[in-house]
Formats: sequence, structure tokens, C-alpha cells
Amino acid sequence: MPLIVQKFGGTSVANPEKILKAARRAIRAQQEGNQVVMVVSAMGHSTDELIDLARQITDKPPAREMDMLLSTGEQVSVALVAMAIHSLGHKAVSMTGAQIGIKTDTTHGKARIKSIETARMKKVLDAGNIILAAGFQGIDEDFNLTTLGRGGSDTTAVALAAVLRADACEIYTDVDGVYTTDPRVVPEARRVSRISYDEMLELASLGAGVMHSRSIEFGKKFDVPIHVRSSFTDQPGTMIVAEPERPDQPVSGAAITKDEARISVQGVPDVPGTSLEIFSRIAAKNISVDMIVQNVGESGKADISFTVPQLDFDAALEAVQEAAKLVGATDVSSDSNVAKVSVVGLGMARQTGVAEKMFRALADAGINIQMITTSEIKISVLVDRDQSQQALRIVHQAFALEKVPTTPIKPLERHTSATDAAAVAERLQNISMEGLTIDDISLDPTQARVSISGVPNTPGIAAKVFEEIAAAGIFVDMIVQSHPSTGGSAVLSFTVPQKQLTQSVAAAQKIAKALHCKAVTSSPIIAKLSVSGVGLRTHTGVAIRMFRALAEAGINLDLINTSEVRVNVVVDGLQGEKGMKQLQAAFADVMR
Ligand code: ADP
Ligand code: ASP
Ligand code: MG
Repeated sequence: MPLIVQKFGGTSVANPEKILKAARRAIRAQQEGNQVVMVVSAMGHSTDELIDLARQITDKPPAREMDMLLSTGEQVSVALVAMAIHSLGHKAVSMTGAQIGIKTDTTHGKARIKSIETARMKKVLDAGNIILAAGFQGIDEDFNLTTLGRGGSDTTAVALAAVLRADACEIYTDVDGVYTTDPRVVPEARRVSRISYDEMLELASLGAGVMHSRSIEFGKKFDVPIHVRSSFTDQPGTMIVAEPERPDQPVSGAAITKDEARISVQGVPDVPGTSLEIFSRIAAKNISVDMIVQNVGESGKADISFTVPQLDFDAALEAVQEAAKLVGATDVSSDSNVAKVSVVGLGMARQTGVAEKMFRALADAGINIQMITTSEIKISVLVDRDQSQQALRIVHQAFALEKVPTTPIKPLERHTSATDAAAVAERLQNISMEGLTIDDISLDPTQARVSISGVPNTPGIAAKVFEEIAAAGIFVDMIVQSHPSTGGSAVLSFTVPQKQLTQSVAAAQKIAKALHCKAVTSSPIIAKLSVSGVGLRTHTGVAIRMFRALAEAGINLDLINTSEVRVNVVVDGLQGEKGMKQLQAAFADVMR
């Protein structure tokens, strides 16, 4: 019999009427001949209310007790929805994460799913019941209750769909699908009919709160098509699948991470192993770091800046201060009044002009860019939090994301065959479900680096630099702009094909002179080493493994950029092969 997983978010079970409505929807699906597993979140804002309650008792509630408290929200809603189904004359059984057998690690508040038992669920389903599965929770080896992180019911739903090999996974929410950006911030945002796992993974991890990013990791890893749709209507919503709708469209969505904080470590001795010292301490606290930028100053000392979620700011700062002392850094500075605005698109990797369009739009609005990082499929800028919503809207307009594109939609090829399903089932038995998997490790020896130092900290500089570079017909790959040092100027680095280095340096010199920058330097041969896989940023250990493997071989890191699907590091061109071997050995145990 076909099996369908339906997930209802907090607003979709916020009161008795909505609970009855959700119950009717599940009954209908069952009457249409499906076995039905419903995953529900806590009612309305009840998780927020529980957090608030804890805060009224103490500023620092123990993480274990916090999970004990928060998991009650979902327990209330599964019981009520099961009662609703009974009242409508049908059979339902509610189950907690522990009763289902959702085993997680012990990272309270951000636990990762290791395995899910299916036998008990199958028995309950075969007896004709609708299962009400409590979202967002699991149990560790010692029977402690754990939660998966805010918004984690999505991850429960997609994980259940994966292990049960469900025919459909429907996410019912208060919007009718995935939009080009958050429609609450940018009202003209447009719903898309389809988006790829990679784009959604990136958007979700960069702030698109419509889906928990780890749910998309499951979707991609176990080939679960996800249908995001409205709990208020019967209209189809957005399909999240492997293939993008328009592979050539450079930008398919934009996102904002409002609650971001920056930390900078100044005067770090530029020797292998210093990044490792700093980031391993942060990773040990399970904090994911983004926008890592490091630049070597003239004195041979480096400045390292990065961002962390505001929620983790205090813990990250504490870890960094300890590490800074150890590595002999001169200063640590921070700013918790910043936000990250990003654009995402699979087509961006093959097109020029995307970065300068974004920078130009921000410049024309007088918005200062504090930091820049890019990857193959995204560009992120750090701006003042007060300007961030305006920045998001401006960027959305710059790429005309509100307009329906005129290019044709690539037809969807349905991919899961019987053998795929068998392969997935086998894989599920042998791995920790949310464990790290790496698909590829590669070396690109064809690029060169150009850096402009003493870049003034005023709006419009990045736009002018990349317009000049683009006018010279140069194809830029990575872009990183450091946070301005205490002196008030930044370093802007980018990589270009080696063949275009002379031209690039000439263009950079011209613009550096016009903008009164300090100097242009370059590395004629660099090696870009890349590790690709799923959920690389949320697995805080990936960058650390890379740093450790390279540091052990005495290889210094020049530039770093991260996305959910790929981490790139740039090292000296002569060290490329050696670096590649180090990385292959370091990730051998998690290669797919
Ligand atoms: P639920 O309680 O159903 O899990 P959430 O509040 O977690 O719902 O997610 C839905 C909300 O996500 C929407 O109301 C919308 O404001 C927000 N959102 C953010 N980015 C996007 C986006 N790109 N597309 C759609 N909704 C988005
Ligand atoms: N109730 C949890 C939260 O509010 C999980 C969820 O809604 O997905 O974060
Ligand atoms: Mg949600």
C-alpha cells in the first residue's frame, strides 16, 4: 500500500479548528488508499512560550532539562490530533520520538538522528491506524530526551519518509510553497513550482526559515521528493527535488540571516595550524561557522574574521578568546549587530556578472558591505542589521526575482527506480543517518589570486572593482572581502584563470589607484582544493578535518569558502597535489 508522510507546522495545528482540519486531511489521504504518518509540531507559539518560561527561572537552563521541557510541546499536539481523528471515527495512535525509536546523538538542542526503527510503526500502520509522530525529538543511547533544533519537525518528517520509503512527503505550512525569498520580508516575492535540493539546502541554511536545512540533507541523501504546500488550501505548492527548474537561471532565490554575529581575530601569526586552533574550539561546541575570511597583512600576521549565529555568539566568543591567547593573536573584536544577505542559484557557477549586479544594487542604495564570501552557488554579504531587510529587497529586485522567468522549465525526470530504493535501504542499515558523507574531493590547479589591500570602508567599492574586472572580460571564481581592520580598510581578494592574471592585475591596479587603495598583490599559481558532499556547514567538523589535514602537512591556507554542499580552500600552487592526498586520507572513512 502506498505510504504518505504529512507534516503540519505549529500554525497549522494552532487551535482546535485547525487540529480538526489537519485530522480531516490525513483521513482523506488514508481513504484514498494510503498508509499515513502525520508529523506534528507544537501548537502555535508554544515552543517559544516554553523557552520563555525557562528563562523566567534561570538564564542558563541545563541543556538536558531544556530538551525535556521543549519536547512536551509536540507531545501535546500529537495527543490532540489523535483524539481529533478518533472523534471523526477513525483510528490513530500518537507516538513520541522515543516510542518510534528515533535514536540521536547527545547534543542537546541540536541532536542529530542516528537511526530510526521502522518495525513498530509498520505494525501500527498495518493495523489500520494513522500514526501521529511527535516532531523535533528523539532519544539518545542513555534514554535522555533530545531535540533536533528549532524547526526540526521538518527533519523528523523527511527522515521518516526516508526510512519508510514513503511515496510522498508533504510539508503543510502557513505559506503555499517556497518563495524566491521570505514573503513576510519582501511582499513581492514569488512562489516557485520547483527547486533543487542544493539550492534549498543553501537557502535554508542561509536563513530561509520555511524548511529546516537538515531536512533537505535527508531529502538529497535518501532521494525523498518533498512537497511544501499550504495547510489552508488544496493547491499544489513547491516540489523540492534533485533537478532545478531552470538550470541556467543565475539566481533562484535570496535569503537573510538576521541574527548573525561577527568575530574577528587580529594579528594571528601566519603559520599552519592557527585556523585549526581557533575553529576546532568552536566546532567542539557544535557551533557552525560561516563567512570565514582570512587575510595576511604586511607584517606577516593574519586577520581572521567569521560569522556565527547570534544564539551561539557568547559561547563562540569565549572559545575564540581562549584560542587567541594560545596562538598569540593581538586582539579579538566582534559585532553582534550584523546580518547576512545571500543570493543562491545553481546557474551562477557558469555565468559572469552576478556578483557585480548584487554589489551595484547595494552600492546604489548606499549600503556598505562589511564582508563578502562566495561559493559556486551563492554569494553572501555582511551588512548592518538595520539595513539588512532593505538590502534583501534591493537584491531581490536587482535579479527581478518577482518576475516569472521567460526561459523554459526543465521537465522533471522521476529518478527513483526499484534498485535505487533497494540501494537506499541498504545504505540506511549501515550508516548513522545524519552522519557526514562526502561525494568528491578535487583539485583545481588552473587559477591565480589577486588581492587589493587598503580598500576603503565605504559603500560602492566592490561594485566598482568587479565592474572594472568584468569590463576586461575576466571570469572571477571566488571572492572574499575581509572585515575592515581597526585601521578602517579591508582586503578584497578574488581568483581568476591563470591565463587572465596579467589582465586582472592591470585592471585591479587601475581601479585601486582610482579608489585610493593601498596595493595590489597576486599569486600566479594557486591550488583550489574542494570537498563536496551534503550538509558540510552544519557538520561543524568538516572544515576542521580539512584544516587539520593540511596543517599536519605544513600547508598554509590562503582563502577559504564554504557552502552546504562544498568547502573550498586555496593553498599555494606547489602544494596542490600534496594537499589533495592529505584530504583524501582525511576523509577516506566518509567517502560515498
Ligand atoms: P511551520 O510552523 O509550518 O514549520 P515556519 O514558520 O517554520 O512554518 O515556516 C514558514 C514561514 O517561513 C513562512 O511563513 C515564511 O514567512 C517563512 N519563509 C522564509 N523564507 C521563505 C521562503 N523562501 N519561502 C517561503 N517561506 C519562507
Ligand atoms: N516546535 C519546534 C519549534 O518551534 C519544532 C518545529 O516547529 O519544527 O522549533
Ligand atoms: Mg518550520
